[in-house]
Order: sequence, then structure tokens, then C-alpha cells
Amino acid sequence: MTPVLSVRGVGMAYGGGVKALDNVSLTIEEGELLAIVGPSGSGKSTLLHIMGTLDRPTSGTVEIDGEDVMSLSDRELSALRGRQLGFVFQQFHLTDGLSAWENVATGLLYAGVPRRSRRPRALEALARVGLDHRSGHLPQQLSGGERQRAAIARALVHEPMLVLADEPTGALDTTNGTAVLDLLSALNDDGTTIAVITHDRDIASLLPRTVELRDGRIVTDTRAEAQAEGRAEAQGLADTQKVRKAPA
Ligand code: ADP
Repeated sequence: MTPVLSVRGVGMAYGGGVKALDNVSLTIEEGELLAIVGPSGSGKSTLLHIMGTLDRPTSGTVEIDGEDVMSLSDRELSALRGRQLGFVFQQFHLTDGLSAWENVATGLLYAGVPRRSRRPRALEALARVGLDHRSGHLPQQLSGGERQRAAIARALVHEPMLVLADEPTGALDTTNGTAVLDLLSALNDDGTTIAVITHDRDIASLLPRTVELRDGRIVTDTRAEAQAEGRAEAQGLADTQKVRKAPA
């Protein structure tokens, strides 16, 4: 199966000799939910921008659904983003004067959806995030958690191949943050492919796959089964040690 996203040997050099990314390779398959985690300055935003075709790397290749995006013009890239990608931001980025459903419907503007279908599609997306009862509310009439759910509805209303979420819980308290993660998990269970960028290891550890960045390089790429096996092994080792230590 063609991966949703394939980044190979990607480097990003900024002026002044800053190497924000160094030989990064990452493949995301359809149906995955993963965290890209790392401390501040490790290259997460740079990688997110490259994965989202908002920036071009200085070296390496990027393919979305098997298409080499490096060869596309800016215009073709924005069309591809409008159809294939959905973005969720830490600060929601909803438009103040628009109701929740109108905000969600802006996610359809570049997806070639006829005007008459936009409202029903937006309401359907709001229902998926449990916010249909707030469809007429303005962003300032919604709580932080509700705003982020509206922003998530906007990111998936056009059924993108991949949703990129940049610190989606960063502006929320623990309860609302957990609810947003649960929602992303539920959407993933329904088939949406999602990459979450976070500096928070606790959040990353809740997701089925964790890619860890440090100084512009991927240092680990771990799947939940492996993490569970690792824990089991560690437990097994601890048990063995206990047995060894037990008096004869
Ligand atoms: P993170 O999102 O993990 O905090 P970034 O991708 O923002 O990391 O940054 C990675 C490195 O690249 C840092 O050293 C940062 O200072 C540098 N950097 C990011 N953007 C720019 C830029 N536009 N110009 C110069 N250096 C940059």
C-alpha cells in the first residue's frame, strides 16, 4: 500500500549554519496515529511545515500518497493541501465573526465541494466531534475544549488523507486536553490518519506510535506493541532479578 506520507533523507538548513533537520526519514501509513515528540528546538515545527508542504526542505524528498511534492508549484501545493491535508493548531485559529459551522465549512473551500453541500457537511463534521448542539455559536461563546473540537471538525470536514495537529492540547487544561486526545483516538479508530506534534512525553506515550526528535534527527521510532513488550521485558527482568535475589 502506498504510504500516506513518506519523507526521505530530509534536511533543513537555515541561515547562520542552523541545521534544523538532518537526514530525517519517516513513513506514515494509512490509519496510523502517531506522536512526533521532542524538546523545544528539536525540529518539530520545521518537520511539521515540511510534512504539511508549507516549507520545502533543503535536501531529501517528500511524497504524499506517492506523489513527489517537491516537483509541484506553490499553486499545486496549496490545492494538494486543501484536498489531502487537515491542520489543527495549538491556538485553534478559528475566525471570530463566523459561527462554529461556518468556521468548519471554511475547511471545504479548497476541496471543490459545492456551496449547497457545505452546511450539511460542516454539521456532520461537528456531530463527529460531539459539537452539533453548538453549531450556531461564535468562537468566543465556546470553551477552549469546544474551540479545539470545532477546529478538529474543520480539519477533517473534507476527509483529508492526513491530519497534522501541532500541540493540539497545548492551550488546554488537563481535562480538556485529555478529551481532545480521546477524540483524536476515536477519529483514528474510524480511519483518520493523524500525526500529533508535541513536546510532552506523557501525551506522546498515550499514542500507538512515538517518533522522537532530538537536534534535528529521529532518535527513536517506537510502536505501542514494542513499548508494551519493552515494559513486559523490563518486568520479566525485574521478576528474574527478584528470583535471583530470593534466598535459596
Ligand atoms: P521545535 O518546533 O522542536 O521547537 P523548530 O523546528 O522550531 O523546533 O526549530 C529547530 C531549530 O531550527 C532551532 O534551532 C531553531 O532555532 C531553528 N529555526 C527554526 N526556524 C528557523 C528560522 N526560520 N530561521 C533560523 N532558524 C530557525
